[in-house]
Amino acid sequence: MDERRAPGRLAVVGGPMFAGKTTELLRRVERARIAGREVLVVAHVLDTRHGSGLVASHAGARTPSRTVERAAQIPDLVGPSTVLVAVDEAQFFGLELVGVVQALADDGVDVVVAGLTVTFDARPFEPLPTLMALAEDVTRLTAVCTRCGRDAAYHVRRGDDGTGDALSSTASHVGGPESYEARCRRHRVV
Ligand code: ADP
Ligand code: MG
Repeated sequence: MDERRAPGRLAVVGGPMFAGKTTELLRRVERARIAGREVLVVAHVLDTRHGSGLVASHAGARTPSRTVERAAQIPDLVGPSTVLVAVDEAQFFGLELVGVVQALADDGVDVVVAGLTVTFDARPFEPLPTLMALAEDVTRLTAVCTRCGRDAAYHVRRGDDGTGDALSSTASHVGGPESYEARCRRHRVV
């Protein structure tokens, strides 16, 4: 008989800024808590928008979280009865997150990861593309284009002159409506 725990599932919620990723992550966390399941919510230390120790959506939903600097610190926070690990702003963790969440899911823990799929200059933003390839479940969300109301799969940095290199500074992906705007395919080019 196979006495190992049944494997968990990896779910990914991806999209540009304002797509509702954190809202969806928090919805799943709340449902798990209602079901009496122990949940670990993880945020990255670079996400300082709402103060440390909170994951919060642009629409105002929030929950306490554990803050880490590196993905490798996450397994130490997972208790014996933790059944769901929810990670927000996955792009801050880089590709190190992939091995960590794969190992957790292999070990019987459900994992839901939310993060940006694109940089503000419209390039794929790891680790989301890789996580989406490996996950059992992928939810791809779009925001609303601030210029025309179409589906926005991208976001731009306000006042950007197009010369910034988004991938060279992960920390620059922190901000809200004062710094970024959701844009459709046509209006991502200002
Ligand atoms: P994300 O985590 O993907 O950045 P949140 O879940 O934090 O998104 O917030 C989504 C909320 O942002 C929406 O429910 C809406 O109230 C608000 N919002 C502000 N600007 C936009 C936009 N351009 N498109 C869609 N939602 C927006
Ligand atoms: Mg968010």
